Amino acid sequence: MPMSSRQLQDVNRVVKWNALSYLGLSALILLTITLFFVLRDRWQIWASTTRDVHYSALATQSTVSELLAQSSLSLSGIRADLEDPESPFNNESLRVTRDAMRFDPMSDFLGFRDRESQRYFVMDRHGHLVNSAIGRDVAGKLPSPTLQGLDIYPLIQIPDDEDWYLPLVMPVNDSHREVDMVFALIAVRRLIQGASTLKTLEDSFLALATTRGQRLFRIGGPNPNGEVNGPPVRADLVAQWLKTRDGNYRGVSQLDNRSVILGYSVSDSYPFLVIVGVPLSSLYVRWARQSLAPAIVLLLSGTLLMLLGRRLRDTVKNLQWMLETQRHASSHDKLTGLLNRDAFISEVNQWVQAHPDERGCVMLFNLNRFKSINDTLGQDAGDLLLVEIGRRLKASLPGEQSLLARLGADEYAVFATEETAQTWLDPAHPTGFSSLSDALHIQGTELEFSASLGLACFPDDGRTSDELLRCADVAMRQAKSDLQPIGRYLAARDHFSPDRLELRSQFVKALRDGALNLVYQPKVGLADGRLMGVETLARWRHPVRGPIAPLTFIPLAENSELIHAFTHFALQTALRQAKRWHEAGQEVPVAVNLSVNNLIDQGFVERLQLLLAVEQVPPRLLELEVTESAVMRHPEQVLKSLRAIRALGVKLSIDDFGTGYASLAYLKQLPVQTLKIDKTFIDNLESDEANQRIVQSAIRLAHEFGMSVVAEGVEQAVAADLLRDYGCEMAQGYYYAPPLSPDELERRWLSGPTPKSSSA
Ligand code: C2E
Ligand code: CA
Ligand code: CA
Repeated sequence: MPMSSRQLQDVNRVVKWNALSYLGLSALILLTITLFFVLRDRWQIWASTTRDVHYSALATQSTVSELLAQSSLSLSGIRADLEDPESPFNNESLRVTRDAMRFDPMSDFLGFRDRESQRYFVMDRHGHLVNSAIGRDVAGKLPSPTLQGLDIYPLIQIPDDEDWYLPLVMPVNDSHREVDMVFALIAVRRLIQGASTLKTLEDSFLALATTRGQRLFRIGGPNPNGEVNGPPVRADLVAQWLKTRDGNYRGVSQLDNRSVILGYSVSDSYPFLVIVGVPLSSLYVRWARQSLAPAIVLLLSGTLLMLLGRRLRDTVKNLQWMLETQRHASSHDKLTGLLNRDAFISEVNQWVQAHPDERGCVMLFNLNRFKSINDTLGQDAGDLLLVEIGRRLKASLPGEQSLLARLGADEYAVFATEETAQTWLDPAHPTGFSSLSDALHIQGTELEFSASLGLACFPDDGRTSDELLRCADVAMRQAKSDLQPIGRYLAARDHFSPDRLELRSQFVKALRDGALNLVYQPKVGLADGRLMGVETLARWRHPVRGPIAPLTFIPLAENSELIHAFTHFALQTALRQAKRWHEAGQEVPVAVNLSVNNLIDQGFVERLQLLLAVEQVPPRLLELEVTESAVMRHPEQVLKSLRAIRALGVKLSIDDFGTGYASLAYLKQLPVQTLKIDKTFIDNLESDEANQRIVQSAIRLAHEFGMSVVAEGVEQAVAADLLRDYGCEMAQGYYYAPPLSPDELERRWLSGPTPKSSSA
C-alpha cells in the first residue's frame, strides 16, 4: 500500500517532534545542572570567603593583642616602678627599664622620656642604651605625649635597620619627676609571623589600623612589599566597626579602588583593629576556575547535542525524502509524471466524499490510432508523444480545480468540477480540450493525431471513482464509434451497466425462444403510390416491460457476437416471408438492416449466400440497408463486403444518409442502388429551406451516381408532394403506413392494393 500524503506528514511530524523534544529536554536538563553547579560554586566561594576574612581578622587581632600584651606588660611594669614613691628604683629609670627588658620576649626596644629634658632613652633587647642619634631619631618620629592612656602610633623606622616598628606608648603621671612617658617598639615582622592564618586565604591582604583610623600597615594585595602608614581609614567605617567590634564589610578599597570583601575585628584590649580583605576580582577568578570544568562539560555536551541534532535532522530529511520519493513513485506514472490509476481513483473518491453536494466529472481520454504511431515511428516516438500530450493536458487545465492522470498506454483521465469541465470542453475555449490535437513535431516528423474523450459526471452517472471511470470509458467508446471527439455518458447506450446486462441476457433468451418478430414498413412509389418493397424492423415484447424499442435492444446485440445470431434471425425471417409472398404470386422485396459488425465479419457473405440457397429466395427480393456512419467506420472492409454482397445479386442501400459525414466521392465507389435520406431532413421540409436544398442536391447527386432515392419518415402530404417534385422515387413513413405485421400488410397493401396519391 503506498503511503498517503497525510500519513507521510504524520510520520514526519511525530519523528520531528519526538526528536526535537528529546534533544531540547536533554539540553535543558544539561543547562540546568550546569547552571546549578556554577551558581552553587559562586555562592560557596562568596560565603566561605566572607567567613574566612572574618575569622582571619579575629584570629590576627587576637594574636596581635596577645603579642602586644607582652610589651604592654613591660611598659606598665616600668611605669609602676617609676610611679611608686616607695620604689627603691626611684631615679634609677634606666635600671628599671633594663629589668623589664629582661623579662620581655616581645619588645625590640623599650624606652622612656625624660620629663625635664624631654630626651628619649631607648634600650635594645640586650639592655644597652642605643646611641643618642637613634634616640633623637625615634624622638622625632614619636608625637608629643598628650596621652591619656596606652596608645599606638604610626610605624617608625630606626636608622640602619630595615624593619618597621610599632610604637606602643604609655604616659607616666607626674608623681614621677624624671620620666613622663614610657614606650615599646615592636618589629612589625614579629606581629606578622603571628598572623600566619592569612596565608591560607589566596590573594588576601591584611591591614592594621588604630582605632583613630590611623592606618599602620598593610601586607598582601597589589604591592608585594606592603604599605606602611597609609591614608586614614574612612571615619564613618571606623565608627561603625568600633560599634560592632567584628564582622564583614563589602565595598570599594580606598587604596586601590578595587571591590573587596572585608573581615574586621577590633581589639578589646588595645586601640587597634585588624582588617582582612579579598578583592572580588580574585573571587571571580576562582569562580571562573571552578566553573571551568562544568562549563567545558556543558560546551562539549552542547556540541554533542548539536551534532546529534544535525544528524537527526539529516536522518529525518533523508527519511522524508525517501518516503516522499516512494510515495511519488507509487502514485505517479513514470513516463509522464502524472498521477497513476490507483492514485487517481483514491483522489477522486476523496473528493466525492468531501463534496457530496457538488458536481464533478471524470473525463477519459484516449488517442486514436496510437498503436499505428507506435508501429510506424517506434516506441521512443510513441513515448515522446505521450509525454507531450501529458504536458499539453497539464498546461490546458486549471491546476487547483482538476486532477490529471495517465491510466495506461495511451489513456489519460481528468477529474474536474462540472463547471471547469464544461469550460475546458467548450470547443471555443482557446486552450481547452480542442487545442490538444494541434499538430506536434516528434523527431522531426509532424504528427497529426486525434483523440476521443468520454465524460461521466458525479452524482448522475456514478458515485464512486470506479463507476465514474467505467461510465467515462463507455462514453469514450461511444464517442469513438460515433466518430466524435467527445461523448457524454448515456445510460441507454451503456451495454455494461447491471441493468443493461440483465436486459441483454433476457434478449438472448427471447432470441433463442423465438420471442422476437419482424414488422414490415412499406416503401411506396411517389409517382403512383404503389408498394415498391418493405423494410423489416425488429420487435421485442418484453414479458414484464412490454414493447422495447429497437434502439434499446439492438445495441445490446451490436456490441458482441450476438449480432450474428440476431442478423441471422432477421434475414431468415424476412427471407421466409418474402418467399411466402413470392409463392403467393406477390413480388415484395424485403429490406433488412445490417449492423457494421456484420460487414466486417469475414464469414458473413458466405453465410448469406448459404441462407439464400437454403431458403430458396431469389436474391433480387432481398435488399440490405447499411447506415452511412457504419460505412465510414471501416471504409475498406465495408467496401469489400458490399461488393461481395452485390455480386450475389442482393440489392444495397445507404441508410440514414446525411448523418454520417460520408464523402460523396467515396459513396460513388459503393455498389449501392438506393440512397435513403434520413428523417431529420424530411421533418419540416416544407418550411426549412436549408433542408430543401440538401434534399434536392442529395437527390440530384444520387441520380448522377445512378441510384434511386427513398425519403424516410414522411409524415405529411406536403413533404410527399415536394419530394415528388424533386424527383425522389420512393417514400417511407407514417403518412403511408407504419411498420405492419405480415397479415396487416397483406390486408392493406397486397390483396388488391389501393394506390394512395398525395393529392387524394
Ligand atoms: P431505421 O433503419 O432508420 O428504421 C426506420 C425507423 O423509423 C423505424 O423505427 C421506423 O418505425 C421509424 N419510422 C418510419 N416511418 C416513420 C415516420 O413517419 N415517423 C417516425 N417518427 N418514425 C418513422 P424503429 O422500428 O423503432 O427502428 C429503429 C432503428 O432500429 C432502425 O432505424 C434500425 O436502425 C434499427 N433496426 C430495426 N430493426 C432492425 C433489424 O432487424 N436489424 C438491425 N440491424 N437494425 C434494426
Ligand atoms: Ca433502415
Ligand atoms: Ca433509416
